[in-house]
Amino acid sequence: MSGDITRIHTGSPANLTERFAHRAAHMKQSEIRSLFAVASRPDIVSLAGGMPNLSALPMEMMAEVVGKLVRENGQEALQYGSGQGHPKLREQICEMMALEGISSHPDDVIVTTGSQQALDLISRIFIDPGDVVLVEAPSYVGALGTFAQYEAQVVHVAMDENGLIPAALREAIAATRATGRKIKFLYVIPNYQNPGGVTLSAARRTEILDICRAESIFVVEDNPYGLLGFDGPSPNAMRAEDSENVLYLGSFSKTIVPGFRVGWALVPDALKDKLVIASESSILCPSNFSQLAISGYLSDQPWRDQIASFCGLYQVRRDAMLESLDKYFPQGATWTKPAGGFYVWVTLPPEIDTKALMPKAIVAKVAYVPGTAFYADGLGSWSMRLSYCYPTPERIREGVKSLGRVINTEMELRGISN
Ligand code: PMP
Repeated sequence: MSGDITRIHTGSPANLTERFAHRAAHMKQSEIRSLFAVASRPDIVSLAGGMPNLSALPMEMMAEVVGKLVRENGQEALQYGSGQGHPKLREQICEMMALEGISSHPDDVIVTTGSQQALDLISRIFIDPGDVVLVEAPSYVGALGTFAQYEAQVVHVAMDENGLIPAALREAIAATRATGRKIKFLYVIPNYQNPGGVTLSAARRTEILDICRAESIFVVEDNPYGLLGFDGPSPNAMRAEDSENVLYLGSFSKTIVPGFRVGWALVPDALKDKLVIASESSILCPSNFSQLAISGYLSDQPWRDQIASFCGLYQVRRDAMLESLDKYFPQGATWTKPAGGFYVWVTLPPEIDTKALMPKAIVAKVAYVPGTAFYADGLGSWSMRLSYCYPTPERIREGVKSLGRVINTEMELRGISN
């Protein structure tokens, strides 16, 4: 038969979009997603995306894990599973969290489809339209998008090179409460923050936990990068200090692979049943296949060595980026010095609009993410996130050099001294 019959319209209403629920208006593509098409062109050095670099992962080893799983345990792996997640994996997750000082029980772990799903579930459970979520400034774009969809009002709290500033948190709480709005939780990424690249100091962790307990504010600790420290381990997790008032989110996306889409939430008792029910209504159960593949990998393979080799790979890239920033970026620019993770946060003179600068960077064959993507309130226009996780060190040097040139030219154009 000739012709494409699949595209014949069958009378679906033309005004479908008018029938969307009110909340659909808050479902917007993130700036990073929209950048993807350009940034993934092979001629562009992309310092934009935060994709884990799998080149240090022996694929033969993964093939062995997956092959063995299907051959020896296919009946279970390819079947539906429990809504809370596989018991064996939940035990292994507790062993992994012990590396960050957390003592936990597998009953309190809920496996999710990446920690992104956990962010969605907790937003669904906690946020009524207009409720306030306290969030670091800047913060993870995927969390901001989720909070927006549930119509939260994000109140940003300032950070410096030691992470969230306790005094700023106190002020934000007081100012929010003075307007009569409800604060539902504080969302914090304490290690190698996305996008800031900074780590919350141990002393501040304790102080922030004290403030939140005193003010009855729940803490959501999102920690996908915690084991990716280059300059020694990160401080103990906040959840290690407070098991009642902290919900901890973890993920295998950065320490093993993102493709299995396995993350987890370690929850206080009062939240567990609700979270499992919410998860079952969205996915029935997390993938047994993915969970058992991760579990088999953790049982049979030297995963600690593998994480160490990921750290080595990211460390040389971090070094390449910091060296080239020193060499090629103008004096008016400052940047964070990450001790782990994927990201450097660059601040330029306030006259430079990094979103408006993007087309010039693309002409110079380099991409980054403009700072405004990481704020709910339009701030960040003179900053940018640079990721060093994916390109080779040579490409990173090349990209930072080109970007430095673009910024220098822009500063000259605007008469900003250098
Ligand atoms: N939180 C943070 C801070 C992240 O950077 C990411 C991924 N970039 C996620 C959560 C989601 O990760 P995943 O769903 O792959 O576990």
